[in-house]
Amino acid sequence: MSFNTLGLSDALLRAIDKKGYTVPSPIQEKAIPPILERKDVLASAQTGTGKTAGFTLPLLQILSQGQKLRKRPVRALVLTPTRELAAQVLDNVRAYSEFLDLRSMVVFGGVNANPQIRALRNGVDVLVATPGRLLDLHNQRALSLANVEILVLDEADRMLDMGFQRDINKILNLLPAKRQNLLFSATFSKEIKQLANGILHHPVWVEAAPENTTAEKIEQKLYRVDQKRKSELIIKFISEGGWKQVLVFTRTKHGANRLTKKMVAAGITAAAIHGNKSQGARTKALGGFKKGTIRVLVATDIAARGLDIPLLPHVVNFELPNISEDYVHRIGRTGRAGASGEAISLVSQEEISYVKGIEKLLGEKLQSEIVAGFEPTASFEKPASTSRNKPHKKPKPKGNNRNYKRRSRR
Ligand code: AMP
Repeated sequence: MSFNTLGLSDALLRAIDKKGYTVPSPIQEKAIPPILERKDVLASAQTGTGKTAGFTLPLLQILSQGQKLRKRPVRALVLTPTRELAAQVLDNVRAYSEFLDLRSMVVFGGVNANPQIRALRNGVDVLVATPGRLLDLHNQRALSLANVEILVLDEADRMLDMGFQRDINKILNLLPAKRQNLLFSATFSKEIKQLANGILHHPVWVEAAPENTTAEKIEQKLYRVDQKRKSELIIKFISEGGWKQVLVFTRTKHGANRLTKKMVAAGITAAAIHGNKSQGARTKALGGFKKGTIRVLVATDIAARGLDIPLLPHVVNFELPNISEDYVHRIGRTGRAGASGEAISLVSQEEISYVKGIEKLLGEKLQSEIVAGFEPTASFEKPASTSRNKPHKKPKPKGNNRNYKRRSRR
């Protein structure tokens, strides 16, 4: 994937080139197209994922294509929790708008307001601000927010942690009702979801899972069971637990089909998503899954990678991936929605060596359990001896994410 395919203008591509970026980060790939389509976006992304360019680039494009107003009232407002972040966002805005006729500035507290007031008089298209100072300046009639077309809440979770909820509400009341809203947050607590519900209209969900980190909220469980009894066990969990919205990973396409059939036969609505399915079938399955008419989506790793689905209460590894990093990707689909995320792995005797590789990557031991009536026939503890079961060598990084890791703390 290159930046050229995202629908960005030549002026922005030039600025990107000047920055030295060659490929978009996953969050940029996912967030830029819907933002350009003027959709509201709810993005789960941490610092270091390239999220700032993810909202800044399309925002600048929209503003540069829109109608210029003579007095240059604020048309895009980016709220951030801290001065440091505000300053960094402004740096990004300035760098990406180098070849555009757009003005930008930053306002934050702790410094004399007068130079900010004077600068605002000249007009500004993009304003980056911390909530408190923005309200002060508005109270002093130093600016108007009546022409804001795009609102960005960056690091919304930190804004709530820092007690900005009331200020945010006040700011929302100063904005036109018709506008585009983008909310970026690393975590999704109940409060963030409430905030998002109050602000966003039919948002497109995008997420960039952090790599090689297990979110604290994910409860990981391993169940030892024979391969041939796995479908029975997973069907038992889903039916008895009343689970809804379960994403199940299988290693092969055929495995996904077989398991889906068994679930359907057991009265659980399920659909498979993998490389052999047509785009139409995938879209239909995904739509049903999001709406809740399909309880279980059975997917292979590749098919799941590009899936745009919100965080889920249950992710199941029907088979463990033989690449440890894939385990982290898979379970990263749960947990961040709240405390209830559960990642279940069904582990057969043949897969023990994979567990060891995963534990090594995570840097923690995973406890396993046995469900009564599903005792494995082979001894679980016996080390696997066939060459196929040798602990998997950690592969060289292949994903893009790694390149966008946090470089400095904010
Ligand atoms: P952010 O998550 O927005 O704080 O970005 C993290 C770092 O990644 C910043 O130093 C950006 O300049 C850099 N960055 C953002 N997008 C890209 C990209 N597509 N390629 C390389 N570096 C990038």
